[in-house]
Amino acid sequence: IAKDEGGNCFRFFQPAMTTYMTRRIKLEQELRQALADPSQLRLFYQPKVDLGSGSIIGVEALLRWHHPEEGMISPMEFIPIAEDSGLILDLGDWVLVQALEQLSRWQREGVAIGMAINVSVKQLLHRDLCDRILALSQQQDIAPDAVQLEITETHIMNDMGRIIAALCALDKAGFTLAIDDFGTGHSSLSRLRDLPVKVLKIDKSFVKNAMRDKKEAQIVKAIIDMGHSLDKTIIAEGIETQEQMQLLTELGCDEGQGYLFARPMPVEELDLLLRQNAQYWHPKDRVGP
Ligand code: C2E
Ligand code: MG
Ligand code: MG
Ligand code: MG
Repeated sequence: IAKDEGGNCFRFFQPAMTTYMTRRIKLEQELRQALADPSQLRLFYQPKVDLGSGSIIGVEALLRWHHPEEGMISPMEFIPIAEDSGLILDLGDWVLVQALEQLSRWQREGVAIGMAINVSVKQLLHRDLCDRILALSQQQDIAPDAVQLEITETHIMNDMGRIIAALCALDKAGFTLAIDDFGTGHSSLSRLRDLPVKVLKIDKSFVKNAMRDKKEAQIVKAIIDMGHSLDKTIIAEGIETQEQMQLLTELGCDEGQGYLFARPMPVEELDLLLRQNAQYWHPKDRVGP
């Protein structure tokens, strides 16, 4: 690529940079193949817990790519590649189909939980997204309010006008909207008030630091109070310890997600977990006493 722009560009590339680019190009091609043969792709589900009652109120769908030679590749590595290459549109659609099918299966079995799905801004700004999710939900007989769409904060602030329009359409269709990794971007209060978003997900870096640093805990408290005054539900991600859970509960956080409760897991494991908790099932489906 650099060669096309004149031979001199070559010397600006460190060997590490070249390796990085070669890997990106390779992964992009392989991700394209994975989409053609989605047996390499799989959704894991991580429970979301109500901090007051401790019960599972929903799950977040998290994409997993099992690469034929390398094994699991982190979404932190392949999602940005998918976003840059445009593959995210097909990949995101695959995720939507799978997650909504699973939600519909749970609803038929009488499991009353919501499904959170990560949506990239490229997907959000594609004019078909709202119609597509509506059509899929109708096909699967899913109530839109059981579907929560998570959009990362840093991305929301880039193209506000078009993003607000897209979010409003989804909100009007009845879907629940959440801002992911909240606190890492620069949402101002007034902008937040204008967004049709019901849920703020506090980024896991805050959860980690709040334990070590009183000031950081104060910031978390300010986020929670401010969110509540705007009628938002607050969820903390990355809760790993009992102490973190306690602190967040004391600070007034509504919901939590993290390794303390459960790791992201395949659907079979999650089904087992749900079956151990009879309250997630309607009486007619209840197993055991
Ligand atoms: P995210 O949406 O903020 O998801 C939370 C991430 O934190 C997940 O990483 C999850 O496995 C991890 N996590 C959960 N509990 C804990 C904990 O207690 N401690 C720590 N250290 N981590 C925890 P994962 O699955 O690797 O996903 C990373 C990111 O990739 C996601 O961040 C999301 O931005 C993106 N992603 C994953 N699946 C999809 C997808 O289907 N579509 C899109 N557009 N993005 C996705
Ligand atoms: Mg998320
Ligand atoms: Mg997050
Ligand atoms: Mg994220």
